[in-house]
Amino acid sequence: NRERIIQSERLNVVSELAASVSHEIRNPLTVTSGFLQLLNKSKSITPEEKGFVELSLQELNRAEKIVSDYLSFAKPQLENMVYSNMFAELEYTKNIIMPYASIHKVEVKFSFNNTLNKSYDRNQIQQCLINLYKNGIEAMKEKGGGTLTIEVSERKQTIIISIQDTGIGMTKEEISRLGKPYYSTKAEGTGLGMLMVYGTINKVEGTIEVHSVQGAGTTFHLIIPA
Ligand code: ADP
Ligand code: MG
Repeated sequence: NRERIIQSERLNVVSELAASVSHEIRNPLTVTSGFLQLLNKSKSITPEEKGFVELSLQELNRAEKIVSDYLSFAKPQLENMVYSNMFAELEYTKNIIMPYASIHKVEVKFSFNNTLNKSYDRNQIQQCLINLYKNGIEAMKEKGGGTLTIEVSERKQTIIISIQDTGIGMTKEEISRLGKPYYSTKAEGTGLGMLMVYGTINKVEGTIEVHSVQGAGTTFHLIIPA
């Protein structure tokens, strides 16, 4: 038990550190990639040099993906703590994901029925929701589209957030690997999204239930005590 407490404290330190460096990392990434794109258009660049520049751009792109899966919403803490029913975060992240959904022919259904309040870090919850929506949409992308259903309800003293997709689904084995660092089945995946999701829900003392049928879709239930 003590071991576990130490471990979760360690997780907190890591996520706080991540939060404080994330914004600092984004700017240099953007600036560097901008100059490399300019260099790439130069008339005096040799084919070999062009190859190096393109590789560098690819690597920067990958770093950018890691930041956006893991740290994009992170901002220096504390003032991000709120006590609320999560409506603002659910509404906001749903709107953010809309363009990504429509590009991939995914319809988004949303319903909210919760009056219970909870204390949480707003940015972390936003990032966690975005990662789950993104995974759902990406699982449907391979099927040419589908429906993402986001439902929030309350039962006794718990808030239940359900995120359902009609995507490719997972096997039992694949479900058991969710949340392991760098586990990804995608060509351009980071394998950090679900790690962030589990870390965040753990922090609010919640649990995650996964139901998945291969070929039919997946539902995540986030069960959070109020
Ligand atoms: P990434 O999205 O970068 O691959 P994640 O940590 O977000 O990394 O997800 C890890 C893996 O879990 C994914 O590559 C995918 O295989 C699986 N996965 C997660 N969510 C879903 C989902 N809704 N449907 C099917 N597979 C999923
Ligand atoms: Mg992901």
